[in-house]
Formats: sequence, C-alpha cells, structure tokens
Amino acid sequence: MSAMAKEENALNLSQGFPDFGIDTQLIEYLHEGMINGHNQYAPMAGLPILRKQIASKTKKLHGRVYDVDDEITVVPGATLGIFAVISAVVKGGDEVIIFDPAYDSYQPSIELNGGIPIQIPLSFPDFSIDWNRVKNALSERTKLIIINSPHNPSGSILHQQDLDALRELVQDTKILILSDEVYEHIIFDGHKHISLAKDTGLSERTFITSSFGKTYHTTGWKMGYVLAPKHLTKVLREGYQFMAFSAHTPTQYAFAKMLEDESTYLNLGKFYQKKRDLFRELVKDSRFEILPTDGSYFQLLSFRNISQESDVDFAERLTRQHKLASIPISVFYKDNIDHKVLRFCFAKKNETLIKAAEILCQI
Ligand code: PMP
Repeated sequence: MSAMAKEENALNLSQGFPDFGIDTQLIEYLHEGMINGHNQYAPMAGLPILRKQIASKTKKLHGRVYDVDDEITVVPGATLGIFAVISAVVKGGDEVIIFDPAYDSYQPSIELNGGIPIQIPLSFPDFSIDWNRVKNALSERTKLIIINSPHNPSGSILHQQDLDALRELVQDTKILILSDEVYEHIIFDGHKHISLAKDTGLSERTFITSSFGKTYHTTGWKMGYVLAPKHLTKVLREGYQFMAFSAHTPTQYAFAKMLEDESTYLNLGKFYQKKRDLFRELVKDSRFEILPTDGSYFQLLSFRNISQESDVDFAERLTRQHKLASIPISVFYKDNIDHKVLRFCFAKKNETLIKAAEILCQI
C-alpha cells in the first residue's frame, strides 16, 4: 500500500511509521557514539550500557529482574528477534498458535522453520482472545503460543484475565510463549501494559520482544531486544549468532543514553493518545464507524455503511481515487476474513491527520 500511495501521490496512513521528525537529542547521542569510537562489533548480546538500561527499565516497570548478561539480547529490530525466537524453538512439524489478524511476519517465520501455524481468529469487533478455542486447539505438538499486546492491527490489549487464562492452559505443559510487546509504551486511557515479565508463572517460559523503532519513532534504525530466562536465552543465542551476530553499535549507544531519561518513554502513551483522539474527533461525523483502540498507533474504521466492496477493493479505490492509503484488515488473516474494516496509522503530523480526515469525511 505504501508503494501504491507513492505511485498515486496519496497521503500514506497505511504502513506503521511516523511522518514526523525524531528527538534531535537522539541524533546527537548517535553522533556522540560514533565520535567516541563505538564503531566496531558490539558483543553478541548487545552493548552492556544498553542492556543495563533495559534491565533497570524492566525492573522499574514490571518488577522483574532480567540478568544483564544472560537474559537480555539486543537485536537489529523486533522482526529479527521474532524470527530468531521461532527458529530457536520450532522444529519440523511443531505447531504454533497465533491469533488472526496478526503481524505479518509470524506465519512465514513459523513456516520457514518447518512449523505449522494454527491460526485462531480473534473475536470481532473487540479483537479479544476466546481462550476456549485456544484450549481446543492445543495438541501434543503445540510448541509455542504467540501473543501481541498492544495489538497490531486492531489496537486491542490483553487484560489480567487473559494472562490468568493463558497461565492455566499452559501450566502443566512444555508450551513456550512469545509475547510481542513492541507497543508496550503506547497505551491509552489510563490502561497499564501488562507485560509477561510481570507474571512469575508465565515469564519462566516466555520470550518478550520489544522495539526501539516504536518507542523512539525510529522504525528505520531497526533496533529491538529479546528478554527471556537464561535457559531460553541460551537457545536463542545459539542461532542468533549466525543470523546477525550483533546489532549496529552506535545506535545501541544512543538508545542507552536516551533510556537514562524515563520521560522519553513514559510520555509516549499521552503523546499518541492526543493523536488518536484528534483523528477520532475529526472523523466522528463521517460515514465511517470508529472501532475502539486501547493501544498501538493504529485506528480501525469500518466502511460497512458505505460500501459492500471487498476491503481490498475499497482500500485501493480510497488510495487511487481519493488519495488516501490505508491497509485492508483481511490481509492480516489466513483466510482473508473481510469485516469491511481498514487500518489507519495515526503516527502522523497533526496536519497529515487533518488532511486524511477531510478526505474521509467527504466519502
Ligand atoms: N511486532 C509488531 C506487532 C509490529 O507491528 C512490528 C512493526 N510493524 C514489529 C513487531 C517489528 O518491529 P521492528 O520494526 O523493530 O522490526
């Protein structure tokens, strides 16, 4: 859709990336990192100063201490972290439970490693997990369950009762969990992100992925990390060392410096909530139906009162005729379930959101 947006000179609210500048302090830190000689391979696990900052942030926010040497691995982006986790634990014929709609790297990463994705649809329109369906989908071959909160593409979040249900399902099994928490700091309306790091019962079997691309508006810098208990981190690193070996060194220095100031991540929810509220306010009188979003930087809009076209056709027409690009939600489903819903990324300048809303209100 981004390519189509470019071709059509359309406003691009499709792909999830900010269209505004980043904190210049971060650029200064990157420069400082290079000037100070952080230009050679970082250790495989990441620069110690960055791992220390990640450990102290995680302890402060979720009360769990991850060992700086043995339980934190810095990776070039969460996508690679997810792939490295899957390839560390999934062997031929293993089943992996994922929830549709899902971030599009999960399914191919499972299949590339010989695994079998078992795709369970989230209930519509609240995009919650039906834990009974999960229970029925478990088998002796279930190796891993992948959850994602705040959720891309829907913006839904998991609640304490979800973690309780998950804990109960896996407690007498060897099933592992990958908790994709890249939008951990983008959460609204006083909700708190419930990291699996917080849950002593679950964290022992869980890999957590996070992304500095989301937290510092730097998707192009491709930097994230994986938290996991020592025995799981060991398996992860056995494969990861041959995928990238290590991540870009001066960028790690820059993020370590930024993390020293907790306001750089603690204010992110408020920052994006303003954008979400602005966008929702601007489209509230349009013919689109606004779905709830509790976190992430995505807003879903339903066009079921406007057209019966498929969401793919409608999204294409919106881009080509009306010059506004979005993502049709069906592409995030294995069976391309079409709820007549489009995803809009509101990580954009207010002027971009105003222009986008003007277009939507005319339809
Ligand atoms: N997980 C989810 C749910 C995402 O939305 C994204 C980015 N779109 C990622 C992982 C990947 O993050 P990164 O850019 O750090 O690879």
